[in-house]
Formats: sequence, structure tokens, C-alpha cells
Amino acid sequence: MKNLWDDREAMKYQGELALRVYTSRLLGRDPSLVLHGGGNTSVKIHQQNLVGETEEILYVKGSGWDLATIEEAGFAPVRIPHLLKLAQLPTLSDSQMVNELKTQMVRANAPAPSVETILHATLPYKYVDHTHADAVVTITNTANGEERIREIYGKQVIIIPYIMPGFDLARLCAQRFAAEAEAETIGMVLMNHGIFSFGETAQESYNRMIQLVGQAEAYLQQQQAWQIPYSVATASKEPLRHDLAQLRYQISQIAGFPVILSLHSQEKTLAFARREDVGEISQQGPATPDHVIRTKRLPMLGRDVNAYAAAYRDYFNSCAQTAGEPKTILDPAPRVILDPQWGLAAVGRTAKDTKIIADIYEHTIDIIERATVLGGYQALSAADIFDVEYWELEQAKLAKSGKQPPFTGEIALVTGAASGIGKACVESLLQRGAAVVGLDRNPAIEELYKRPDFCGITCDITQEGEITEALERAVRSFGGLDIVILNAGIFPAGCAINKLATAEWRRVLAVNLDANLVLLRECHPFLKLAPNGGRVVAIGSKNVPAPGPGVAAYSAAKAALVQLVRVAALEWGGDRIRINTINPNAVFDTGIWSEEVLQARAQHYGLSVEDYKKNNVLGVEVTSRDVAELTVEMCGSLFAKTTGAQVPIDGGNERVI
Ligand code: ZN
Repeated sequence: MKNLWDDREAMKYQGELALRVYTSRLLGRDPSLVLHGGGNTSVKIHQQNLVGETEEILYVKGSGWDLATIEEAGFAPVRIPHLLKLAQLPTLSDSQMVNELKTQMVRANAPAPSVETILHATLPYKYVDHTHADAVVTITNTANGEERIREIYGKQVIIIPYIMPGFDLARLCAQRFAAEAEAETIGMVLMNHGIFSFGETAQESYNRMIQLVGQAEAYLQQQQAWQIPYSVATASKEPLRHDLAQLRYQISQIAGFPVILSLHSQEKTLAFARREDVGEISQQGPATPDHVIRTKRLPMLGRDVNAYAAAYRDYFNSCAQTAGEPKTILDPAPRVILDPQWGLAAVGRTAKDTKIIADIYEHTIDIIERATVLGGYQALSAADIFDVEYWELEQAKLAKSGKQPPFTGEIALVTGAASGIGKACVESLLQRGAAVVGLDRNPAIEELYKRPDFCGITCDITQEGEITEALERAVRSFGGLDIVILNAGIFPAGCAINKLATAEWRRVLAVNLDANLVLLRECHPFLKLAPNGGRVVAIGSKNVPAPGPGVAAYSAAKAALVQLVRVAALEWGGDRIRINTINPNAVFDTGIWSEEVLQARAQHYGLSVEDYKKNNVLGVEVTSRDVAELTVEMCGSLFAKTTGAQVPIDGGNERVI
């Protein structure tokens, strides 16, 4: 466990709250301490209000903020005297507690204070740090965890038995602290949950957290339970995309909405999934209540997709029954699947959720493997897990999260995605909640967006092998394909037919036409499994209805492409796949049109560049974004009953009209 405190860096953070920000971020930098918004921190500050009174305020991490990136605005300021009075009450319901925390804030637009706020307030130290550190949770989640914690820490920490986070836990911690704290007490271990440290300065509290967690790691090392030797496990080279897409389809059917499914086949997950006792050790539940909330319970096991789907259905039905009222299950999706061939597959509502689930489960694997060496992993009881899962507060949050963007849980593939219309389509799709796979022969595509819902793949679409490889990667990343945008194309230099070389003709047709046949054929099985029906949009051209001289290869290829997708619209209607074409014209903000070319073309027509761009019936300029928005809208509900159509987007062209 590395102490990341740096005096020079710390100098940039002046003031009590600023230093709170600094050490919170230090905790957030280490995923073995704090993962995806887990953990929380606080500082107690005296400050003057508008009428000149001095108030004691607890600045505690607000919900929706991640310690790794938190700012001062991410801390909710709550009046301490009131919190201390609340801590004396015999009971307080979750909704009452939420109300009290909110109405005692001194900044109206602050985020909602953490559910662990009262606990922070009762600890008589200026700075309080709380994490769900892997090493500590590993030890508390064993049969004789409490003994081991006592052995490691002695009087350095107070031990709190497991209680669900909230008022009762805060009250118990306050009582135990008052009764048991001694001079050497620097922290508190919460069984099956995590660890608190505290101190008079930000640095002291942080140092103590690192020290305490370091002691837990050293203990695990001593017990030979730190480095887990994985049997050499290699990922299957077999194509898995069809099985994965089938499973994703079945899970989506059961969930009632499309889900994202991502595969994680590295050495660690494969070795874990291939353990002989995996059926036993993986079925005991998550390591901390925080993980329950974020991953929703148990992994599934099995070999074939139908078995997974059946397990999923059973799970879903059992939740519905136990909860009494099926409608209260707002988000049954986030899940983990372990398979000896696949390793780990995570299922979630969005690509971001899926990444969080996979990351947490990869940490859970470490925890389970190490706890197993210590004699056995022992998670929360099923009843405790259920309480957290159906926690009033969590259900309320889910209910509030309300309306999702229209393409949430869907996956789109865009060709020629690194620039121009393709790139604009990627942006329009991401904005509507889709996970996007972008193909381009330009390797810049791989770095285009660093976000969990985008996967950029370098791909020359004239090579069939590269297309199938890209599809394998796409489906391993997100679980299927719902939308395909056939955009990639080349626009060759003008050339009259009597001078057009056969090789040039073939080169243009290979990209603008032939590649699209391969893409359609290879994507069809996935589009057929799209939970809301598959959608394809081909980017055609004004040249289809109104060709010009000098562009024979381009115009012929685009016309043939339109004919190809019209036939596909006829053949695939029964598979609930709709296919339409957009015919743009004069989109000048793409790579093809440099300022020089534009000027030359404008001069040729005796127009200014400005007038040349708007040389259409409506007198408007058509941008990549305009084309992308129409393209993506054609995949939405507005065009749900339209297939085989061609829609111009050209500002009105006299020859087309
Ligand atoms: Zn916690």
C-alpha cells in the first residue's frame, strides 16, 4: 500500500476543505481502496453565516461524486449540532434521515450528503476517511475474520459487527466509539463492509488509512494469501460472437429492455472461472454492501447460453416474488456471468454500468481468492444482501434516474467513423445513449474517444478477414449489434469514362459497394437478434438520382449500394430489420473538401465560396452534423415503420425534386 502524499502537490491545496479534496483524490487514485464512487470522506469546519454567527459544519462527500475526481463543490455542508442530536434518537427511518440531512444543509444546491453522514459527524476528529479497501474486506469476509482483525490491529481499531449502512450503523459506531476508544485508537473496522480512519489533519487521517490498510496487506502476505498464482489460462481463440449475441438477446428479452454484455477474458478471470470450486466460492455474494448496490448480487454459472438465460430468468422471477411487487424492480439487469471458456461476462443497462460491474467483480475475485487461502470466503448473509438490494434509498434513486436516452442498451456500428459524416454519426449515437463501435482504416479511430461506451477499431473494410475480426471484437465488447451505419466511402478525382482505368473502377467499387455486401451479410445474424429490431442506414448520394459527369465509378457504386439495401429491406423485413438510405449533397465540412478545392469549385461556377456552399433550393448549408442527426433519427422511433426509403438531405436540388 503506497502512501501517495506529496508535500509539493499538497501546497497547491490551501485551506481545510481544499486539503480534504486533495487527500480524497489520493484515496480515489488507488482502485484497491476506492472503486467507482465507493468510499467517502469528510471534514469539520467552523465558518461564519450571513448574520455573523459561527457554525460548525460537516463537509461530507455528496452522492454522485467520485473521490478520484471530487472538487470542493462535491462536498455537502451539513450543520453538525443537529446531526449530533439526531444521533441520540432511538430510531430514524431512511426517508426521515434523508430529509433531515437535506434540510440541514447550508448550501441549497449542494449534492445529497452520503448515507454515512451521521457516522462521520459523531466521530470526534476533524478529518474522517472511509474506504472499502480490498485487503480489509478480504479479512473481514472470512469465518474468523473478527479474530484476525483483532490480531492485526489490537487497540488501533474499534470493531463493528455488520449492520446495513444508515442510521442504525451510525448509532452503533457512536456508542462503541464512546465506550471503547483509547489513546491508540486511529480507526474503525466495519465487518463485511470497510474501514474508517480519522485524524486532526487531512494528512494524519490519510496516513492512518494507508497504514491500517498496509497492515492488512502485510498480514495477507504473511499468510501467503497475497500473490495468487494463476494456472496459465489462455483465452479461447474461437469466435464467440454468435453465442454472446444470442445470450444478450435472451437476457434483454427477460429484462424487458436491451442490455450491454461485455466479455473479460484475461488470465485472472479465466483462471477463476476454471477453478473446480468456482460454483461454490462464487455463489456467496459480494464483499461489501457497496458492491451489492453496484453489481446486484450473484454471478451466474453454466455452459450454454440457454442455461444462462434460464438462470437469469429464475433470478429475475425470484426477485419479483420476494419483493412482493414486481414493479418495484426497476433495474434487474446488472449481472456477472462466469464461464470456463469466456472468463467473466458483465451485463448492465449501459456500457458504463457494465464496466463498473466488471471492475468490481475483478476486485471481488482477488478478495475471494485471498479469503479462500485464509480458510474460506464468507460474504454477507442472503438476508443482508436482500436488505441492501431492496434498500428504500437505492430504490428511490433508481426511480429518480427515470427516463433514459432512446438508444440506451443498444449497440451501433459506424464505418468510416474517424472523420466527417461518420464521426458526426458516432457523436449523435453516443448522445442518444448507444454504445458505439467505430471502424476506420485510419488508426486514429482507436483513440478517438476515451470512454467506456466507445470502441474504435482500425479496419480496412475491403478485407473480409478484417471485418469479421472487427465484429468479433465489437460483440465481445458490447454483446451484439442493433444499428449499422454504412458510411465509409471514397470520392475519387474526376475522370471521364473514356479514360477510366479498370483498376480505378474496381478500387472505388471495392470500398463503396463490395465492402457493404460483406458488412451486411456478416452483420445480419446480429441485427436479427436486436431486441428492438435491427436498423441499417446507408449513406448514399445525390448522385444516385442525379449523377454528374466525371464521377462514373462513384455514382455507379452508390446507385448499386442503394439497390443492394433496397433488396435487403425486402429480404430482411421478416427479421424486423429496417433499412433506409440518406442521400446527402454538398457536405463541405468533411476531409474531402479542403479550402483550396472549395475555392476552385466555387470559381468554376463563378460563385463566392459562401454562395457555392448554399447553392440549393433552400439556400442553406448542409453540415456533417445535419446528415448525422437525420441518419441517427432514422434509427429511432420516428421512422419505426419506414423501410426501403431514400431521403435526400441536400437543401433541395432541382434535379432531384
Ligand atoms: Zn461504506
